[in-house]
Amino acid sequence: MNSAREEFLKIAHAALAGDPLLPTLGVEGDGPDFRYSVDQGPLPSKLAGTEFSPAPPFARDDLLKVLATATRSRWQRGQLPTQVNLDDLSSYFKACRVSLAVDPGWFDLLFSVFHLAVGLGAANRWETLQVKEKYGTLRIYYEAEPDVVDGLDRIIEAAEHLSGHICEKCGAPGELRPGGYVRTLCDEHAGGSNG
Ligand SMILES: [Zn+2]
Repeated sequence: MNSAREEFLKIAHAALAGDPLLPTLGVEGDGPDFRYSVDQGPLPSKLAGTEFSPAPPFARDDLLKVLATATRSRWQRGQLPTQVNLDDLSSYFKACRVSLAVDPGWFDLLFSVFHLAVGLGAANRWETLQVKEKYGTLRIYYEAEPDVVDGLDRIIEAAEHLSGHICEKCGAPGELRPGGYVRTLCDEHAGGSNG
């Protein structure tokens, strides 16, 4: 990927495949400060091959906000995910209470969840119970005060859906790779013996 914009668009198109309003997604700027816009409307019940019943538990805006925040974080950091320490998130965010049992490619996706939760006014009102990879995608289990659960759920469910399109090793656009041990990986990491 040559720019934050290309990466954002590639992952957005993969994660929202089947959304009739996806063609209205526009992005301005190439750097980490890119801006995006999209038309409003309900999401279909099936996105990127995943059937939600009756509808996705997140809005298009939730998903794009989580992805944009993760993408900006990744490109602003200017550091490979393999050089980050996932445990740093627990010193940045009080809600991050457990060790993060995932590979570092999801660092910025997790940063996005914790950062957006602060924006919801939930900073000290929720905490993680378990964060792990399961069947190739992210799972976040948590407890929270009742009035912030709805907002948190939307962000977290959007991040979990996005994780199926982001390489867990490096944070580049990726896809679920079937096999004995299902992982979400980019082409490069899927090619290795560790895939
Ligand atoms: Zn990768």
